[in-house]
This record gives sequence, structure tokens and C-alpha cells, in this order.
Amino acid sequence: MNNSILSNRILSLSESATLEMTRLSRELKSEGKDVIALSIGEPDFNTPQNVKDAGKLAIDNNITHYPPVPGFLELREAIAAKLKRDNNLDYGPENIVVSTGAKHSLINVFMCILNDGDEVIIPAPYWVSYPEMVGLAGGKSVVINTDIDSDFKIKPEDIEKAITTNTKAFLFNSPSNPTGSVYTYEELSEIAKVLVKYPDILIIADEIYEYITFDSEHHSLGSFPELKDQLVIVNGVSKGMAMTGWRVGYIAGPKFIASACGKLQGQYTSGTGSISQMAALEAVKTDPNKSKEVSDMVKAFRERRDLLISLVKEIPGIKSNVPNGAFYLFPDVSYYYGKSNGDTTINGSTELCMYLLNEVYVALVPGEAFGSPECIRISYAASKEVIKEAVERIKLALSRLS
Ligand code: PMP
Ligand code: GLU
Repeated sequence: MNNSILSNRILSLSESATLEMTRLSRELKSEGKDVIALSIGEPDFNTPQNVKDAGKLAIDNNITHYPPVPGFLELREAIAAKLKRDNNLDYGPENIVVSTGAKHSLINVFMCILNDGDEVIIPAPYWVSYPEMVGLAGGKSVVINTDIDSDFKIKPEDIEKAITTNTKAFLFNSPSNPTGSVYTYEELSEIAKVLVKYPDILIIADEIYEYITFDSEHHSLGSFPELKDQLVIVNGVSKGMAMTGWRVGYIAGPKFIASACGKLQGQYTSGTGSISQMAALEAVKTDPNKSKEVSDMVKAFRERRDLLISLVKEIPGIKSNVPNGAFYLFPDVSYYYGKSNGDTTINGSTELCMYLLNEVYVALVPGEAFGSPECIRISYAASKEVIKEAVERIKLALSRLS
């Protein structure tokens, strides 16, 4: 037997570029190479002690049986309280479904709403998994392009232009992966004015980076009550509470969407791991404004952002904006396309990333995977020393291209 047994569904699915670059860098590392991986997007901080203790206690208290499919009631109530505390939103546990990471929450929603050919509007640069998830669920992505000069932000009229009779959903991500852009309240308000005119379009707001902002704070699309009936908020504990490995995400939205996601999970994965749920309960009860761990982490990310931008500015030909959130820089490196070191000609972001990986052992992610082939993504979830060394190496490798 060979891979011809595989379904069209899986054969047409791309490998996640973020995870692929991380896999390649781990392979090189295991060969003894001194690799700097700035490819995966995850905080390099440890989960706060009180959260880890809650996980341990869950084991000792034998909370090790099948949990309820949509999540423990206590956790869903705590998420509802978090949405009130942080975002001033009114949801009850019946509006909430806990899943195995925000990734799982997102695909649940797509699986629940999309029929073949239904369209989802996605601003680019987008997180790598969005179009693949939409495709898996039978839908079609309709991409709105943006550029670095406008901080990679869409204009409200772009949404209106992208809407067709097949539009089922609009996917929105602020703070953004990969650009780090954060929409202001005023910008969101303009977007809300367009979306409210289309009450049959579901808005999926991925707010997973909400705690990681620097110069102005995050605002939820939920701040506009007129959108509530058509809005699903996706969030989780992975980024803001440094809990990527615990795999807990959630949605909050209309009851019929929550019920549908619960029904899907019931046949597909069942509830998220009980121990992780109990740790997440402690995490969502933590007020980020009163948590030293969260504020220390955000402070460190801000310093690293400033450092990285100042270092990248010294490299000829690279153009960057100043991201206000998340922990990514997404510079335009197209100046180097068409250049060669004699052996390798760089024709795009994938070739450039492979060149940097093989030449100086720095792992980044090609912008191509995020719908912006002129850029590359640098995750600055690493120490200042590592960032400095990585940029030195990048600068050296790029200086060999002409
Ligand atoms: N949305 C965005 C924008 C992300 O960058 C990620 C990556 N972690 C996710 C969702 C998925 O988060 P999780 O790790 O909770 O599945
Ligand atoms: N979301 C992170 C990233 O973009 C983690 C890897 C992944 O799930 O894609 O790197």
C-alpha cells in the first residue's frame, strides 16, 4: 500500500509552515548544529506557579475522568467572568465551549458553519492555519490584501468589496499573528459599522494575543453590542498565560454556535483534558492587570521588540513597521529577491528562509505561508542575547547576496 490511499482532503492540505520550520530546525539541532529558532510563536516563559499547582492538584484530586464535552461548568463560568472583567462582555456558560487550544476552537466553528463553496473573508497577512482550516471544512478563503505602509490594516470598504452572496464569515485577528498589528477602538468601530449591515455574516474574532500589547491596549470586537448576535470570540490561555502545551482554548458566541461546536466535539474529540481544564480555570481567574508574571512577560516582549526593530533597521534593504502587540516582526525583505551568493538565487520568502536556515542556522517563517510573499516572520519570543546573535547572523548571510 502507498499514499494513494490518502484522501484528497489530506493530500491537498499544506503542512503548517510554522511547525514545518520548527521541525526542520529541531532536525538540524539534533545533528549538532547551533540553530537559533525564531520560528515558532510561543512565549519562552514558564506557566505561572499557581496555574501549575492547580494542574497538580487536579491529578491528586483524581479529576482524571471524562470531563463534560463543552468544558467543566466551573471553567465556563470563570471564562464568562473573565470576559466581563477584561472585555466588559456579557456571556453565560451556555455561550462558551472549551476546546483543545484555540486552533481547535477555530476549526470547530468552520466545521459548524461552512458548506462546500461557502466563503470566508480573511485579511492578509493571516495566520498560516486559517485558509487551511477553511479549506478542510469545505469553504473558500477570500483574501483581503494589506500593506506594510498602512501597518497591515484593512480598510472597512475592503470588507464590503469582498462580500458576495456566498460570504458566510469574516475572520479577524487583532493583535495579529504574523504582523503584531493592533486595531484601535476607532478603527474597530469603523469595521463594526460595515459588518452590522450584514447580520448574516458571522464574525470570528481571534483574540488569542489580547494580553500582549505595548503602546495601546487591546479592544475586542465584542465592544460593539450591535454585533453580538453575529460574533464568535476565540481566545485561550496559550499566549497570554504562557500555556501553549496545556492545549486549552475557547469560544464565546451565540448559543446555537456553542451547541453546534459541542455536538461536533462530542463525536470528534470529547472534552479537553481534565487536568488542563483545571489549570486553565486558575489561569482565567487571574486578572492580567494584577499578575506579575503577565506584566513581566509583556514588559520583556516590549523590550525585545524595541531591540529587534533597532537591529533590523541596520540591515540594508529591510523595511519594517512597529508592531504594537503579539511577539512577531514581519519585515519586508523583497529587496533581496533576485539576488544570489553565487550558488543560490533567492526568488522568494521560502528560499530566503531556507537560505538563512542552511547558511547561518536561523529559523524564521516565510511570509508566503501568511499570504505575504514579500515578508518573513521573526518571532521574538527569545532572550535579548539570542535575538542579537540571530540578527548578526541574518545580517551576515544577507551581506553575501548581490
Ligand atoms: N490563533 C492565532 C492567531 C495563533 O497565532 C495561534 C497559535 N498559537 C492560535 C490561534 C492557536 O492557539 P492555540 O495554541 O491555543 O491552539
Ligand atoms: N501559532 C503559533 C505560530 O504561529 C504556534 C504554531 C502553530 O500552531 O502554528 O507559530
